[in-house]
Amino acid sequence: MKAAMLYGIRDLRVEEVETPKVEPGEVLVKVKAATTCGTDLKIFKRGYVSGVIKLPTVFGHEWAGEVVEVGEGVSWPRVGMRIRAGNSAPCLRCRMCRKGDYNLCEDMMWLWGAYAEYIKVPPRMVTVNMQEIPDHLSFEEAALTEPLACVLHGIEKAEVGLGDTVAIIGAGPIGLMHLLCAKKLGASKTIVIDLVDERLEIAKKLGADEIVNAKEKDAVEEIRRLTDGYGVDVAIEAVGLPQTWEQALKLVRRGGTVLEFGGCPPGTEIKVSTELLHYSQVRVIGVFHATPLHFKKALNLIASRTIDVRPLITRKMPLEKISEAFELLLTSKRDIKIAIIP
Ligand SMILES: [Zn+2]
Ligand SMILES: [Zn+2]
Repeated sequence: MKAAMLYGIRDLRVEEVETPKVEPGEVLVKVKAATTCGTDLKIFKRGYVSGVIKLPTVFGHEWAGEVVEVGEGVSWPRVGMRIRAGNSAPCLRCRMCRKGDYNLCEDMMWLWGAYAEYIKVPPRMVTVNMQEIPDHLSFEEAALTEPLACVLHGIEKAEVGLGDTVAIIGAGPIGLMHLLCAKKLGASKTIVIDLVDERLEIAKKLGADEIVNAKEKDAVEEIRRLTDGYGVDVAIEAVGLPQTWEQALKLVRRGGTVLEFGGCPPGTEIKVSTELLHYSQVRVIGVFHATPLHFKKALNLIASRTIDVRPLITRKMPLEKISEAFELLLTSKRDIKIAIIP
């Protein structure tokens, strides 16, 4: 089969590799769509992920496809079923899992390698994090279950409510998904901050009430101006830089909530004013990944089009052109997510 292998910084090659052999309990899936993700782009740009992945490596984690073979002992799914799965499966037995913090599992199983013709799903993942896709739903849309699951996890913790004002830093796919969710949760005013006008225009199209280009205007001042001097109820950081993590702290009202969502480079730190936490009683939340429940919910929201993710898929490209797709994402101002079709 053909699979994309990452060899180093911006060195992604489509190669002929052996099609995985199915062992008992496993499921082999023909990948029908795999979507590009900010994390993948980071890995492509830097050529590593905090020492976890060894090069060369398979690549990609947001996908959906059709079951082509099931191992011995598998009663579900059936061959021919349209499914999505991954990219994580907690053990359900460790201390964190027993506390219900499945996303913090100490023995998390991860699955990479979606940019390939086939992907083999291990038994634990078949049981814990695989769902059937309804017929009307495209594989591309179903592939977005993973990022939406993470966004749901975050926005749930931030407790956005009816009538809240919400500021989102970053108009990439994750920021835009937060925007869609905040609107559904009843935010009365959503403000999106970014440095690129084209991206802000997309945010506007998706329903942002206000957009702020932080290159042209001071974001903190603008947010104050747009909220009668108070600051927003909830600020969401969806960039992944210490500077924007700190900026988010300055956007909220007294008693407001800051959701630090974007993953920053390893070893980085931020400065937080003690007065902000004490006298202003600002709540600061960090969040990592998602639980199997969020994956299930995310797929349901996508399938019912309660959260319509279709505008986020701006292009489809064949697997052979995957390197071109990532180069495009590094420079393009209009592309959000590209669906790779093996
Ligand atoms: Zn992702
Ligand atoms: Zn666990």
